Parts: sequence; C-alpha cells; structure tokens
Amino acid sequence: MRSARLWAGLLGLAKVVVEDVEFDEVEQVLVVSARPRKATKRRCGRCGKRCPGYDQGEGRRRWRTLDFGQVRAFLEADSPRVRCAEHGVIAAQVPWARHGAGHTYAFDDTAAWLVTHCSKSAVRDLLRIAWRTVGSIVTRVVADAEATTDRFANLRRIGIDEISYKRGHKYLTVIVDHDTGVLLWARPGRDSTTLEKFFDSLGVQRCAQITLVSADAAEWIATVVAARCQNAELCLDPFHIVAWATKALDEVRREVWNAARKGGQKTVAKELKNARFALWKNPGDLTDRQACTLAGIAKTNAPLYRAYLLKEQLRQVFQLKGAEGIALLDAWLKWAWRCRLPAFVKLARSIRDHRAGIDAALSHGLSNARVESVNTKLRLLTRIAFGFRSPEALVALAMLDLGGMCPPLPGRAIT
Ligand SMILES: [Zn+2]
Repeated sequence: MRSARLWAGLLGLAKVVVEDVEFDEVEQVLVVSARPRKATKRRCGRCGKRCPGYDQGEGRRRWRTLDFGQVRAFLEADSPRVRCAEHGVIAAQVPWARHGAGHTYAFDDTAAWLVTHCSKSAVRDLLRIAWRTVGSIVTRVVADAEATTDRFANLRRIGIDEISYKRGHKYLTVIVDHDTGVLLWARPGRDSTTLEKFFDSLGVQRCAQITLVSADAAEWIATVVAARCQNAELCLDPFHIVAWATKALDEVRREVWNAARKGGQKTVAKELKNARFALWKNPGDLTDRQACTLAGIAKTNAPLYRAYLLKEQLRQVFQLKGAEGIALLDAWLKWAWRCRLPAFVKLARSIRDHRAGIDAALSHGLSNARVESVNTKLRLLTRIAFGFRSPEALVALAMLDLGGMCPPLPGRAIT
C-alpha cells in the first residue's frame, strides 16, 4: 500500500508498519491494521524488556484511536503474549498504547488534556466515551507520567493537609510544594500509614533535604514527620491555631448566652445569639451593625468581650510573625492563663504543648495558605470526579489539573 506512510503519519504512529486500512460497514468504523516494527517486538508489556514469545494471546484485537473526520477509528493488530523473567506470561508491549489500555496514546492523552480544559459533558460527547472510562484513562496517564518523571528532585518545603472527598468520612492526604504551589501527591486515607507512603516514594535522601513542613496539629503527622524527615522543622498552620481560638470564643459565647436565657434575660440572650458573626469576623470586615453589637458587648458583657480580645490578639500574633509575633505570644499566654475563662485556659494549654511548631511557623512565616488554595480547587474536582470508579481516578484528575501533569495534545510540543 503506497499510502502506508501517510496513514502512519496521520495516526501519529512511530515504530509501526501500517498494513491495511478498511471501513468496517457493520460497525461503521475505520479500521487501521498495523504491526510493530521488528525492534519493538516481543517486549514485556510492563517493563519493556525483550523476552521470548509465549503464544498468540487473544489473537487480533482493536484499540480505539482518535476519530477520522466523522467516523470512529480503531487500530487493529495481533496481541501476542511473552514470558517475562520478572512479570511472567504477559501481553507484549505495543508502541501505540499503554499496557492494558483499550485506547491509544493519542486517545488517552487527548482525553487527559480535555478533562483539564473542558466540561465533563464536552469530554464525554466529543470523545463518545463513558465518564468512568475517562476515570480509567486519567489514572493510567498519570501513573505513566509518575513512573517516568521525578517531581520530587528539589523538594525543600512542603505542606501537608487533608480533604474529605466523599460523605461518610472519606479523606485524602494531600501534599503541596510550598515553593511552587503545585500539588505533589495525594492518596486516599488520613493516617500515618498513608503519610508513610509519601515519604517512601521520596526516599531517604530526599526526605533529608526537606527543611520545613507545615501542617495542622494532628499527632500522626508530627510523629511521621519527626521519624522520616530528620532535618525538617514542623510549622503549625496559623489558620488552625486561630480556628482553635474562634472555637474557644464560641464556647464562651454559648455559656453566657445560656446563663442569660436561664436567668430570664430575653433581650440579652437574643443579642448574644445574633452576636456570633460580629465576634467571628476580623474587626476590619465588620458591618456598622456588627460593630454596634460588639460595642454593646464591650459595655455589658465583660467575660465575652475579654474572650473576643483574646481571640483577636492571637490573630495579631500571626499577623506580626517573627520575633515580634513570638514576643506577643508570650504576653498572650500570660494573659490567657489568668483570664478566668476555662475555654481559653484550655487553649493556652494546647498552645503551650504545641509551642515549638507555632514558633517555627512564626519565625519562618510559613502558613498552609498555599495548601488551602490547592484544596479549594481539589474540592471542586471531587464534584467533577463523581462517577469515577475509584478514588485513585480522582487523585489522577487532581494531578493532571493541579500537579502540572497534563500531557500536551498529541503531535504538539509542550509550550
Ligand atoms: Zn517484565
């Protein structure tokens, strides 16, 4: 066939001999028959090592490739098996598709690119595939990219966080590079075993290069980081510490509200109930009405106002940062110890217990803000990933979109 080269070029096939092109009247699809060039024959589908042939496997089979004009197109070829010393009897590698895939590289990469650039329905309609198939495609595209690129080479500062991806307490552990804001790694689970897996894939040497780790105050994170990254300082995320203070403040508000209610002070109780947002917000963001509410509390409710000031001053600590922040935190602790508000005395105790991590965050000015921003986007992706069969597919989607692993469109150079 004179146009064999043209067909190979149109399909973007290298190391492949096109034998025939036919229109299948029954299926209404274009079928391109091909075989690998000799040099790429008889290799293990997983490791690519040359090995002895075994049998003809499933015989002829088809791989879906990109459409030609209006018709769907398939690549058809033998699918022999080989006997690999390491992987046993296994389907031989083909130069046009990933191992175990029913779609060609060109199709897989196009699907992966589209997923990060178009809506769910656009991808499904354009490619004429089910959403769960897209899930399988992105999973293998990312697995392939992870196996061939080293994204952990110059890692210094990382942030660890968790995100719930399904109702019923399903969580992902998420790792972000503080210097690039890129999602580095995510896996289902929220425990030390999950986190261990990340440091396993990093290896001893690269773990030793990590200097700063930011995270919330979870015990399991602290334990694993201390054991695996000997040169790293753990910085506790200021956002979480301020959230503790907000919680303590709310506890005080509820107490005084209950006391007012039980004492029959209806108006006071109502005011306190509505004061929630005024107390929560940063002073600069208050509406006039909320500012009024707060002024009222300052006049009539000393304990609650004291709690409010304690929360605000703790927030100030993290705004100041550095030595000034540390000095203010010392003063804050002294104040909190004798404030006669049990919730804040308890908070002072927690802060004392986590002092090293808080001071590290203050002196390095490291917060989990970048991690939070990745998480916000990841939360949107969990909705898009609805319909994928596994959490691994959600992780793969996240790596494509937020981890910089999206492949270029077939035949185009990376820009
Ligand atoms: Zn092998």
